[in-house]
Amino acid sequence: MPQQFANFINGEWVESPEVSPNINPSNLDDVIGEFARADAEQTQRAIRAAADAFATWSLSTPQQRFDVLDRTGSALLERKEELGRLLAREEGKTVAEGIGEVGRAGQIFKFFAGEALRIGGEIVPSVRPGLTVEVTREPLGVIGLITPWNFPIAIPAWKIAPALAYGNCVVLKPADLVPASAWELVKIIAQAGAPHGVINLVMGRGTVVGEALVASPLVNAISFTGSVATGRAIAARCVASGKKVQLEMGGKNPMVVLDDADLDVAVEACINGAFFSTGQRCTASSRLIVTEGIHDRFVEAMKARMVTLKIGDALAAETHIGPVVDAKQLQQDEDYIRIAREEGGEVFGGERVPGASKGYFLAPALITGTNNAMRINREEVFGPVASVVKAKDYDEALALANDTEFGLSAGICTTSLRHATHFKRHVQAGMVMVNVATAGVDYHVPFGGRKGSSYGPREQGSYAREFYTIVKTAYVAS
Ligand code: NAD
Repeated sequence: MPQQFANFINGEWVESPEVSPNINPSNLDDVIGEFARADAEQTQRAIRAAADAFATWSLSTPQQRFDVLDRTGSALLERKEELGRLLAREEGKTVAEGIGEVGRAGQIFKFFAGEALRIGGEIVPSVRPGLTVEVTREPLGVIGLITPWNFPIAIPAWKIAPALAYGNCVVLKPADLVPASAWELVKIIAQAGAPHGVINLVMGRGTVVGEALVASPLVNAISFTGSVATGRAIAARCVASGKKVQLEMGGKNPMVVLDDADLDVAVEACINGAFFSTGQRCTASSRLIVTEGIHDRFVEAMKARMVTLKIGDALAAETHIGPVVDAKQLQQDEDYIRIAREEGGEVFGGERVPGASKGYFLAPALITGTNNAMRINREEVFGPVASVVKAKDYDEALALANDTEFGLSAGICTTSLRHATHFKRHVQAGMVMVNVATAGVDYHVPFGGRKGSSYGPREQGSYAREFYTIVKTAYVAS
């Protein structure tokens, strides 16, 4: 009988009428546990608990908030090996990637512990005599957090930590596919001393729990990470009801490789950006835009490197690329590989790989001979699939990089300072990488995109306060 995992509402573990199994994508016979699937009524209870707790948590001292966040960060860092393995087991990224992600979550809590102490304000002389103006920041209230499956602990962490640091209370709804990491995280936060109701975990379906969060008048803001279609629908409803909303969504991130690039640097950046974490990163380099003079050498070097990658069980030490997260995503990856072939692309790799256990193993695919109008270059695949577009020169490469509805991350591999500088300024993306993979970011600086990839204020770093606080202007007569 698999272990049962309940929701966390108002400081108590609360079972749901329904449960859903959490299955290891490396080994479909391995059930990690059965996780509660809340209904709308349980979600309402969690929202009410958060609203009640806000009365005191919003007035807690910065020291109190620092202590909870700092203890959470320490616990995550101490347990990163164990939790990293759990993450790899439920999501399918490798153990090294899982441990790295848990470590990052720990650092995020440490960073926002410090931010709790750094909430200042401004005193501004009034333009009128005898008055002083104070500008301060206050928490918003109850924040609904809706997260995707591909970063099961880092994304909940980078939303929960600033929410709590600035005095808000939270209802977290993690992705249905990967609730175990979020469950452990919430338990750690509770053990670190978060008062009842400050952090609530409600697991279950987006159409039930997520919908209830978005619909509730007691929820003051929604921070969402996930697909474009879901994000846009949520934003429309939030705007209609006057809720603050922040969206991080998909990408079709370009990596430009110029003739003057260091070939080894370019190949490593592209292999990492396109295929590590099974390509299941919103910042993955899915479009490799390569100028004519280096194109053929680059493609051959990529193929030679791809065949050295070991695809297999996420928990095995020798694995470079773990499985695809589930059957639906595997189907989507294979559909796009087929579509790319039908569009005239030439596919290298992309076949299923037999594993020691039953799992969703797919070899990375490199698709050459594509142009930017093809669906493979316009739509997000979200798997280990990258296509190559040949460009005449730098100017054409930049134009191709910007010819997309997305704008999350963009990269360039070049030894030219002039091109690197021009690219940083002119590429339409929230994050720009020079001679390094488009995926993989620091935890203390802003994260986010433009165009169809993001909406609302940036996440992470001190910029996170734009979303999680509201400004008050006070006039004081002396
Ligand atoms: P998804 O949109 O299917 O689900 C995201 C979350 O929304 C889940 O928790 C889901 O249960 C919930 N949800 C679904 N329907 C809902 C509804 N009607 N109302 C409220 N909530 C609802 O996305 P996913 O498949 O979990 O994640 C993959 C996507 O996430 C990709 O597009 C990827 O690019 C994106 N992503 C973006 C970033 C970023 O920071 N830009 C980071 C990671 C992932």
